[in-house]
Formats: sequence, C-alpha cells, structure tokens
Amino acid sequence: MARGIGTKCIHLEEDEGRLAHYGAISFPIYQSATYAHPAVGQSTGFDYSRLQNPTREQVEKVVASLENGIDALALSSGMAAISLMMELFAPGDHLIVDADLYGGSIRLFEHVSRKNGIDFTSIDCYKENIESYIKENTKAIYIETPTNPMMHVTDIKKTAEIAKRHGVLLIVDNTFLSPYFQNPLDLGADIVIHSGTKYLGGHNDTLAGFLVTNREDVRERLRFLIKTTGAGLAPFDSWLILRGIKTLGVRMEKAQENAKGIAEWLKGQQSVTEVIYPGLPEHPGHEIMKRQARGFGAMLTFKLESREFALAVLEKVKLIRYAESLGGVETLITYPTTQTHADVPKEIRERNGITESTLRMSVGIEDGEDLLDELAGVFHEIESR
Ligand SMILES: *Cc1c(COP(=O)(O)O)cnc(C)c1O
Repeated sequence: MARGIGTKCIHLEEDEGRLAHYGAISFPIYQSATYAHPAVGQSTGFDYSRLQNPTREQVEKVVASLENGIDALALSSGMAAISLMMELFAPGDHLIVDADLYGGSIRLFEHVSRKNGIDFTSIDCYKENIESYIKENTKAIYIETPTNPMMHVTDIKKTAEIAKRHGVLLIVDNTFLSPYFQNPLDLGADIVIHSGTKYLGGHNDTLAGFLVTNREDVRERLRFLIKTTGAGLAPFDSWLILRGIKTLGVRMEKAQENAKGIAEWLKGQQSVTEVIYPGLPEHPGHEIMKRQARGFGAMLTFKLESREFALAVLEKVKLIRYAESLGGVETLITYPTTQTHADVPKEIRERNGITESTLRMSVGIEDGEDLLDELAGVFHEIESR
C-alpha cells in the first residue's frame, strides 16, 4: 500500500529493515570531498562530491519521493536551482512566465537569462489564455501557484494540458505549499522547483534548492548540468534539510491552522482593506485549490488603509519578526515593496497589485492565540494614535 506523505517525510521505503550506516536513525553527514576506488575501473558509486555525496543523495531521494518524481537534485539555494534549470534553454528560446513570481526569479530572468539570449513573455497565468502566447520558439511555461505575494491560483492540470499539446515544459515553483500540500508532477508538470530554504528546511537556518522531475530526458540533462556547474548542496546543509523534512507534516498543519485564524481575524479589522488567503472561501482560487492541493498553506497577504499603517505594523511587531523569507517555524512579516520585490520595476509591481500598504505574512507554528494577541495589541496601538 502506498504510504502517506507524513510517513514519507520520515522514512524512505527502501531503507526499511536495513542496518546500513551502523543502523543510524539520523542519516550520517558524509563530510568528504572525494572517495577511494576499490580497484581500477570500479567505484563505490561515489567518486567526488560535486557529482554526488551520500548525504545529498539521501535528501534528494526523500524529496523525489515526496514529489513523486524519478529524481531530485539538491542545490545550494532556490536560486541556484532555478539558474541550473535555465541552462536547459539556449539563445533564441522563449518562455512564458507568470507575472507575479518570486522577485529573485524575475530578476534572474530579466537581468541574466535575457543577456543569454532567452526571451520571456510575462502574463497573468491564472486568468490569461496561455495558449495564445505560445510561439514557435516557446520551450516552457513557468508558474508559481499560489503566487508570491498576490496568491493567484493557476490551474496546474489545465496548464499542463496546454504544455503537452505544444510540446513545451511545464515548470512549477512549489515552494509556497511544499510537497505536503501539492504535487504538481502528479497533475502533469515536468519540473518542480523548491526553495528548500523555506518549508522543507523549515527552521530559517539554511539555504537549499531542489529540482524534481519525472522525465528521463530532463533528469539526464540536469544531472550533467549539476556535475558540470557545481552548485550541489553541501553535506551538512543536506542533513539540515533532511532533519527539517521529518517534521514537515506537523509544521504545515499547525502553520495552516494559525494562518486560517489570522486571516479570519484580519478580515474583521476596519483598517484592513483586503485579506488575500486562498483558504478563505471567497478567494477566487479557492475551488481550484481544493481540487489540486491538499491544503491552502500558511502564506497570506493583506492590505492596510495606508502606507503609514503598514510601516507602523512592521515597526511595532515583536513576537512576529519583520524579516524576509518564509516557511519557517517563526512567523515573519515582510514588506514586498522594499524587500522581496524591490527589484521588480514599480509599474510591474503596481500592475500586479503590490501597493505600498501591502504586507505579506509567513505564519509560523507558535501558539495561535499569542500571534492574535500580538496583532490585536499592535493594531490597537496604531489605531489609537
Ligand atoms: C525564496 C524563494 C525562491 C529562492 O530561493 P532561495 O533559497 O532564497 O535562493 C524561489 N522561489 C520562491 C517561491 C521563493 O519563495
């Protein structure tokens, strides 16, 4: 019987009953750059850690298993993963990308990939007719769902059907939901990306990135690229991600529960003009997410009555920390305008709906009551000025 995803976070099927590694329950950190050969022309399976390292291989197997891929590659950050993925393309190629992406991905596409001769069309994939933008040289569709920070939801299955019809790759950055809540490969995607820095690691203590695929041709190409370019995840960082993943299930459930509570609370505040959380039934992507995901995640975006109010919230929170990043046990709040999306041109930011009174929250796993108490105190203080 197929195992549940919570169990898959902790156990690899093939490891059952084995006493390898002296029976170590926590997979060892193989802090070795190179490996001795048993004889000429023979290998233990490991030759040099840029190509492969046992600890990195273990985390790759776990992530591949969680995303139902045939292989996963672990890289030194999410951006290293996306940069490596871009090496699949050549000058003259064209990609359709979602308009509302992680700011670093937009920066990479606009300022590095374009220089390398790759062309992009940036559209709102959740509402546009993607098919009408496909050109002869289109090689891939690149999406996030829900998007960062506007939480737009794109139908993965429908997009995959378009990609298949035209023989182009569908690439999905699945960082926001983690494999615990969503598996794009099962819905027809070809490559899944994760910033492992976020939910997979879960503790805001290390950077990592993953590329997962279920296509043999893509797998082969990516393996060649990682060994050639060399941004594979270090052994200790691989171990941190392995450890983080063990509690992915309980963290995602608790963070989501807290996020639902906060979204409801924010909705009741006079100074809040909009709450964008796909777990709210009125969110336009709610029904699609019910079909394609097992949860709604713990990321939410909200808009305040003024820029001043938003800045005051950032200054007054204490338990909730004003910091970039997401997906960790700590609740973080960020200001997309000057942080995650600072490098996105103002007109694109505004077209995407990111205003100067927009805040994004990554809800953590503290006691929900304490988070609500803090928010209530901060709002009260600002409102009574
Ligand atoms: C953080 C993030 C990235 C980049 O990952 P790093 O580990 O910071 O390099 C890519 N995509 C999304 C959705 C992210 O949140």
